[in-house]
Amino acid sequence: MFKSDLIDQAARFRSADGDPIRKLESCPALVLNADYTPLSYYPLSVWPWQTAIKAIFLERVDVVANYDRLVHSPSLDMQIPSVIALRQYVRPSEFPAFTRFNVFLRDRFTCQYCGSPQHLTFDHVVPRRLGGKTTWENILTACAPCNMRKGGCTPAQAHMQPLVRPIRPTSWQLQQQGKSFPPNYLHETWRDWLYWDIELEE
Ligand SMILES: [Zn+2]
Repeated sequence: MFKSDLIDQAARFRSADGDPIRKLESCPALVLNADYTPLSYYPLSVWPWQTAIKAIFLERVDVVANYDRLVHSPSLDMQIPSVIALRQYVRPSEFPAFTRFNVFLRDRFTCQYCGSPQHLTFDHVVPRRLGGKTTWENILTACAPCNMRKGGCTPAQAHMQPLVRPIRPTSWQLQQQGKSFPPNYLHETWRDWLYWDIELEE
């Protein structure tokens, strides 16, 4: 997806329904690290409004922006936070967990043999029966037809070379990938924190 599409997409959400009538369950808070960078891009780190308000009372977060929507309690009215920042910096781990989701994300949700985004599954580059391990370096995203075609063969035997050699990504590399997949829901106040680097580049 192109950057201009990302900005368009963000802009569309910006003009979404008026805030005051927004349903409470549509008021998650975007969580920033103490350095005001998003905790993660994909899946985006968001908390339900109840969790966010609890964290404010526990003084674990600072409020950066609010929804127009209020919650009422017997003792006070309070604006629901839309962006909050942790007071204590959370150091991201250098390497992400080796999970199915993260392999898909590394491979940008596309088959690494033909580029298809559909019917995705996983392929052992060197097949298990030939000693291939289930590791970042030997697993990649493949569509079901490619997986079937490759069968139990090596890429050389099947004449199917991966488009990109699979590597173990760093958390930073995975986060960069995540930026290309904007979430379904973006509040206008999130935009500045998620896309400022993109706008600077343009
Ligand atoms: Zn394929």
